[in-house]
Amino acid sequence: MSQLRFRVVEEAYNRKALSVEIPVERPQEYYGKYVFNRQRMQQYLPKDIYEALVNAIDNKETLSREVADSVADGMKRWAIDNGARHYTHWFHPLTDGTAEKHDAFVNVDGKGGVVEEFSGKLLVQQEGDASSFPNGGIRNTFEARGYSVWDISSPAFILDKTLCIPTIFISYTGESLDYKAPLLRAINSVDKAASDVARYFYPEVKHVISYLGWEQEYFLVDEALYSARPDLVMSGRTLMGHESAKNQQLEDHYFGAIPSRVEAFMLDLEIECHKLGIPAKTRHNEVAPNQFELAPIYEETNLANDHNLLLMSLMSEVARRHNFRVLLHEKPFAGVNGSGKHNNWSLGTDTGVQLFAPGKTPLENLRFITFVVNVMAAVHKHNGLLKASIMSATNCHRLGANEAPPAIISIFAGKQLSEILEKLEKSNHDELIDLSGKEGISLGMSQIPEVMVDNTDRNRTSPFAFTGNRFEFRAVGSSANCASAMIALNAAVAEQLSEFKTTVDARMAQGDTMQHAILEEIRLLISRSKAIHFDGNGYSEEWKAEAARRGLDCETNAAKIFDAYLKQSSIDMFQNTGIFNKIELEARNEVKWEMYTKKVQIEARVLGDLAINHILPIATRYQSILMDNVFKLRKLFDEEKGQKFTAPDVQMIEDISEYMLIIKDEVNKMVEARKVANRIDSEREKAIAYHDMVVPAMEIVREYIDKLELVVDNELWPLPKYRELLFIR
Ligand code: ADP
Ligand code: MG
Repeated sequence: MSQLRFRVVEEAYNRKALSVEIPVERPQEYYGKYVFNRQRMQQYLPKDIYEALVNAIDNKETLSREVADSVADGMKRWAIDNGARHYTHWFHPLTDGTAEKHDAFVNVDGKGGVVEEFSGKLLVQQEGDASSFPNGGIRNTFEARGYSVWDISSPAFILDKTLCIPTIFISYTGESLDYKAPLLRAINSVDKAASDVARYFYPEVKHVISYLGWEQEYFLVDEALYSARPDLVMSGRTLMGHESAKNQQLEDHYFGAIPSRVEAFMLDLEIECHKLGIPAKTRHNEVAPNQFELAPIYEETNLANDHNLLLMSLMSEVARRHNFRVLLHEKPFAGVNGSGKHNNWSLGTDTGVQLFAPGKTPLENLRFITFVVNVMAAVHKHNGLLKASIMSATNCHRLGANEAPPAIISIFAGKQLSEILEKLEKSNHDELIDLSGKEGISLGMSQIPEVMVDNTDRNRTSPFAFTGNRFEFRAVGSSANCASAMIALNAAVAEQLSEFKTTVDARMAQGDTMQHAILEEIRLLISRSKAIHFDGNGYSEEWKAEAARRGLDCETNAAKIFDAYLKQSSIDMFQNTGIFNKIELEARNEVKWEMYTKKVQIEARVLGDLAINHILPIATRYQSILMDNVFKLRKLFDEEKGQKFTAPDVQMIEDISEYMLIIKDEVNKMVEARKVANRIDSEREKAIAYHDMVVPAMEIVREYIDKLELVVDNELWPLPKYRELLFIR
């Protein structure tokens, strides 16, 4: 077996960088080549159809059947001209990836031949088997119909010679079965609520756009090494492996020179991204060895999310060309940093105002503080829900580990913003009248320096940080669909802004000036939501105690964290914003618990199998070599003459026995715990049982396998070690 380990290590170390074919054209010429964007629409659609489509996209209107037919025809011609032979509705079920069902453009012509065909009907809506996707009991197999429906706001694209049409996925009875439908609803809901508030300051505003700029972190592992680690193949993370003597302690990887093989991969990936209209911009090494990051220019949230999902599948594909495997798991290696996906989020008006950016006039600064404070209030009210929105069986390994955001949501505001908030909160009623008096709002706010935008201090320990003109939700996991976090955040802020509007309007109806009414409300919100504001060290033990005192959600059990979706305040919020009804929320939680259980179950099976079939036999073999040696050594000593026999091997034999016994024992416990848990009917209780009973046994098994790794002869050890996996040559 160790033969395999040495072979794959050699294979990996000898691998050379691939030379990447760089297009002869400049980036601006191939950018968006495989996207049915406005330029292509104009080229392939009759003028009136193009205008009808653009109008429907911009004003969120529905398309008539005739227009859809004509769009389908144009799209088909464009796709075929660009090498596509198939089309698929591309949707985001409640799994880790995207789903596709390919159909060829061909149809029989009745004369023994075929024609290339694609109608508006096929473009707009298709029927699928919803019961085959996670649905939390909404769809039973006997009533399995689900529909995928075209999302005209995200452009179609060609991937692998297939025309992909972004769609939402809903059940026959209208419940959403995916991430996209609720995301679109959340975006609409924040658009409406934020536009209403924005119009206090800019009456001409028609829409507010939610923006998302994600930063995708990932690990790369050589393909040969990956294949020799069944745990990576099956569960996406290493379930065992002793820390390497050198890992990230010298901090020499972060922003360091990118290894040439990786650089070739990144270049290749960027070219592919650009052809698909993904505005990839930044790339660099991350903190852990073999860890990297890619960030695009931010975009409207729905499109940005489609692009992130597309990127994740593109990455895996391009990585394989370079004999790499990309690991999107949040914590593929113990002891080094995990991977997140920071969600930089902002709101901007259709007139081009960034609502979280300070302005140049007192009124603009009142707008700035209004929006920032409303976000803080929303995050405060729904902090447990926001944590639930980023929680998963994989991300729970990262949260709370000493490098990532803790499992408590708080907001980092930075020095300047904190000072403004404090000043506002402390001002009394009379001062507020003063402040909003004849000279406008002073508050020192008119002096908010413009440098603030780029100059905010960074607090890497905060899960939700204000970064000058946007908020950065850092707790999102690297493998997650950003939609989950973006639905909860946009919805919570929509609810808060519409409440704000109601109260400010009520004050104004009583004769208050707008400025004063707003200031009063802001002051109340600041003091009410103070508990969420924390600029200190989020990793510290003191913060955990302090957060609990402040009444923030401190639950760490992943399975229980999901309960936040079913709190009355969450149900009300989602219902009032029109995003989820209670049935949908309940169904989606069933899916979350089920997913949690299944992932832990897979890991436990793989770990048990590796422990019993790979590790223990090797340990036994090594132990018997040692025993053989001891047996022979004994012959050298003449105990009758008083020579005392000693050998380090005896101690090692005993240690190995002890570790092996513990491993065997804990594997048995793990199997028993699974049997008990599997008999539980409730998905929630089952997930809790897996969390409480299976996971702890897994941790002990790992601990003792890692101890064995340190004593067993390196020549015999079957699985590539951390030091081999983590350093690309
Ligand atoms: P850092 O690592 O310092 O946070 P990066 O350059 O890695 O910075 O990533 C910043 C991300 O924030 C990019 O994806 C960028 O497009 C995005 N971003 C910048 N401004 C905004 C904004 N106003 N709204 C949303 N995202 C933004
Ligand atoms: Mg970054």
